[in-house]
Amino acid sequence: MPSETELRFADVAADAPVGPGRTFSYAIPPSLDVRPGHLIRIPFGPQRTQGLVFALTAAPRVEKTRSISSLVLPEPALSPHQLELARWIGDYYMCSLFEAAAPMLPPGERVRIQTYVSLGPASADTERPLTPFQQRVLDYVGRRGSVEQRRIVRALGESSRAALVRLEGRGMVVRTEGAGRPPPGPKYVGYVRLTPEGRALGPDGLDAKRAPQQARLLARLRDGEAPLTLVEARREYGRGAVAALLSRSWIERTEVIVDRDPLEGRAFPPAAPVTLTPAQAATASRVRAALDSSPPGGKLLVRGVTGSGKTEIYLDAVEHCLRLGKRAIVLVPEIALTHQTVERFSARFPGRVAVLHSGLSAGERYDQWWKTRRGEYGVVVGSRSAVFAPQPDLGLIVMDEEHEWTYKQADSNPRYHAREVAERLSALAGAVVVLGSASPDIVSYHRAGRGELRLLTLPERVRVRGGRPLASSDLASVQVVDMRRELREGNSDIFSRALSAEMEECLRAGRQAILFLNRRGSASYVQCRSCGLSLQCRSCEIALTYHGGMDRLLCHYCGYRRLTPDSCPRCRSYRLARYGIGTEAVAKEVARRFPEAGVIRWDRDTARNARAGEDMLHRFREQDAQVLVGTQMIAKGLHFPEVSLVGVVSADVGLNLPDYRAGERVFQLLCQVAGRAGRGPWPGKVVVQTYQPGSYAIRAAASQDYPAFYRREMAFRREHFNPPAGRLIRLLYSHVNRALCEQEAVRLSQEIRGERDAWALTDVEVLGPTPAYPARLRGRYRWHLVLRGADPRALLDKVRAPAGWVVDVDPVTLT
Ligand code: ADP
Ligand code: ZN
Ligand code: ZN
Repeated sequence: MPSETELRFADVAADAPVGPGRTFSYAIPPSLDVRPGHLIRIPFGPQRTQGLVFALTAAPRVEKTRSISSLVLPEPALSPHQLELARWIGDYYMCSLFEAAAPMLPPGERVRIQTYVSLGPASADTERPLTPFQQRVLDYVGRRGSVEQRRIVRALGESSRAALVRLEGRGMVVRTEGAGRPPPGPKYVGYVRLTPEGRALGPDGLDAKRAPQQARLLARLRDGEAPLTLVEARREYGRGAVAALLSRSWIERTEVIVDRDPLEGRAFPPAAPVTLTPAQAATASRVRAALDSSPPGGKLLVRGVTGSGKTEIYLDAVEHCLRLGKRAIVLVPEIALTHQTVERFSARFPGRVAVLHSGLSAGERYDQWWKTRRGEYGVVVGSRSAVFAPQPDLGLIVMDEEHEWTYKQADSNPRYHAREVAERLSALAGAVVVLGSASPDIVSYHRAGRGELRLLTLPERVRVRGGRPLASSDLASVQVVDMRRELREGNSDIFSRALSAEMEECLRAGRQAILFLNRRGSASYVQCRSCGLSLQCRSCEIALTYHGGMDRLLCHYCGYRRLTPDSCPRCRSYRLARYGIGTEAVAKEVARRFPEAGVIRWDRDTARNARAGEDMLHRFREQDAQVLVGTQMIAKGLHFPEVSLVGVVSADVGLNLPDYRAGERVFQLLCQVAGRAGRGPWPGKVVVQTYQPGSYAIRAAASQDYPAFYRREMAFRREHFNPPAGRLIRLLYSHVNRALCEQEAVRLSQEIRGERDAWALTDVEVLGPTPAYPARLRGRYRWHLVLRGADPRALLDKVRAPAGWVVDVDPVTLT
């Protein structure tokens, strides 16, 4: 084996659009101490970019190599098992190695060298007129002065690259390279302190009559207890005094790194552990046993209704993990929820909790990340990307609400699922994974059935009476209201008579109510107002989506399309309607009917950021208003003891989404919504309004019968080879030009079908291509196709999606 000094070459993943798994050989200059995990600067083609060292080698893999330019950070940015994890992510999710590793880099250190385009000195000559497209590119640049090349490509398509080369050749545009924003770096605060000379001066060293402020400042520094910042010194004693003392070298300034702490100023009263109920204790001890086992590890799934104490189990597990001298990561689905979880963890482990989520400022994230890496926190609580937190000696990863879709990164590479990453990471680090949910992902429950996860169940909600926790079976009572019947009997309001009556009673008693709507319902679908039938695809059991542009109903899954019928195919009624009620309308209606009650409306429009959302929840908890109207955001994990009524204004909306997981999603949302009611001393009531009271998802949710739902849903999944019966890979193409977009989608699907037949991979289905939903996004048309089967990857490996295609492995949604 060659010694360290002979390893003069590095396998480097470049921050450039290259295929999955690719590394490049670079020579290591003698002056640099390069190790695996180092973030470096490299020349790449005609440009410079960053790279990540994956391995050192004695010999290069190509004849001619270029040299590494410099190190970005003196220490390796990634640990060996993070490099291993990045390899897995790059391979499994089919993205470049650098992209795969990027979420593990210190915040702000990934700096992309950009090409900027601006107008050049030459103007068009009449001999060689520009093509219309070149003119368009030129106008685009002209309007903006200076613009990143990738923005031009995004706006005008790949062919603008060639146009830019032509324009540059004629001197009409100029291209320059520049870095993006620099990383935030640590935050320094200036302090003033006495120099040895200043101290030697003694109390009478300065004429206090002639320079009273200077004398007072000196006295303060000599006698004061607390250190004094430069800003404070200037404010209290004047700029002149500070400057004078500095120039006489009696005082000096020092720079001290301060911590930007997102939890600063928040007091969490310390909380002692609760006494676990027997069911909780049994579950907790199974988790502890996994932590104690040797070698450590294990994957557990805790299924427990809302309020059964899953969080208490997590707290217990973290405590045990810390006692073993290890550290933990706790994942929660939404930033808005991080707050409540952080509160409970901070109360239990004061000063040992870090938060990492996208709602932090760049500086806060920077500080939390580095402190975590130095091992200063026992627990990191955060959303999806916190799974990449650099926790040393990781012993435990908890994922609360493991079924949530937000755990899958859907809009940029790597398109990872935090659960898969957590499992992979736990195997590398020897950590235990605990997944928890009231309504587990069908895939997870299926895996538990096969023994891949250990299933632990907490069947009962905990209620504290007289200071003692009691398991109680009084889940909220759920009433399903048939809205077709309401309509037949003359009520065409948003609220059914049952919901109106319950609201009246709840508000009169001075308690609180939550009204819930599924926002994704803005996707317009067609339903019969007489019999409740929603128009579905013939072969997919998925609702057709109305496309206004072409005035057609379309299946987003298989491409089936039809005209909107005049009458209902089942009951012949002409009362077909398109749906989509908004939160705004509901809030208005509440205000009209119950002017005294006060309404808070929470959706993506009103709760723009985590802080605004938190404020609204705080106001609701303080009973500033009696009614909270919101989207699925409010369904998750929140705890309001005064809420005794939950109304689901329309349960159908999600059910008709063009997606194979629509039923699962509705079931999960309804279970969670029902879990919001009756968390205080009063029994909770839930009213679910629906046009499809017969739907198995709604029926199972009403009785909160997960196993029943699972059996039914699994049968559907098997029938259509949807996960977990089969696996999916989605390929999405987008282009500013509608025809080119469709053409490319058709071309690739034909190529894939050809390869499938050539290799006889007949058990992989190729679905589509079809327009994606929405069919046009930010000015680009979108088409997609889906590969489905036991091993769709085997087929994709034969084809390799060309540049411009987005590959989404295990997509959580096909809309
Ligand atoms: P989940 O996470 O399953 O929704 P929680 O852990 O939030 O459940 O528990 C619901 C409420 O009941 C919380 O306020 C929690 O502190 C309380 N609780 C749970 N178990 C106990 C217990 N054994 N003793 C006292 N309070 C408990
Ligand atoms: Zn009908
Ligand atoms: Zn279909």
